[in-house]
Amino acid sequence: MVEYLSDTEYPQGRRVLVVFAHPDDAEYAAAGAVARWAAEGRDVFYLAVTDGSKGTADRSTSPAAVAERRAAEQRAAARVLGVRDVFFLGFEDGVLQATIELRREIVRVIRRVRPDVVCCPDPTARLMLTLHRRHLRPNHPDHLAVGDATLAAVYPSARDHLFCPELLAAGLQPHRVGEVLLWGTGEPTLFVDVGATVERKIAALECHASQDRPEPLAEAIRERARRIGEVVGLPYAEAFRYVVTR
Ligand SMILES: [Zn+2]
Repeated sequence: MVEYLSDTEYPQGRRVLVVFAHPDDAEYAAAGAVARWAAEGRDVFYLAVTDGSKGTADRSTSPAAVAERRAAEQRAAARVLGVRDVFFLGFEDGVLQATIELRREIVRVIRRVRPDVVCCPDPTARLMLTLHRRHLRPNHPDHLAVGDATLAAVYPSARDHLFCPELLAAGLQPHRVGEVLLWGTGEPTLFVDVGATVERKIAALECHASQDRPEPLAEAIRERARRIGEVVGLPYAEAFRYVVTR
């Protein structure tokens, strides 16, 4: 029997960094929670790892134009949710690997933002349940790479001064992140009640107008949040796997 954590007690930290592969990933996975945390007075920051440049079916546009448009859409979605700032690493969409270089760039942002909580994809989720929970679908390899590199950045690389000495030389002191929330997980332990913010989540997703989305979008998002909420008796929820680093 799994014991679920209370979303009024967790996460405990007030400064949150959300790390994701593609513009719109954070909205699908966590925008209801992000809007709620921001409304509670927490400081929420976004880190977009890839440029999203492969996210189009339009053969007349260029990857650079797609990336530029998607960055603007991501900034607009962040504004809707009350996110304080968005960082972009600009790695090429679709071919991301959990390299030491990627880990270092995430450490750089962690040491700048100094979050108490990091939120990112579950790197162990090779397969994910479909919306209706009848089938499994493959997870995107960029999501796995981001989850893997982010966990490695949190522990040990951001925390210990002998990792990434070039960052310390640049004045970025080590930083200990206390809590990690993983989304896209088959083993959730924290369900966040998003009853008050699911409409804001939909509004944030509407900012990603260049993307193929479920039709109608609003009903698909409510349905997904309902199905997650059913597990714990909430009208609408988002699910995370809660990890502590000590
Ligand atoms: Zn994605």
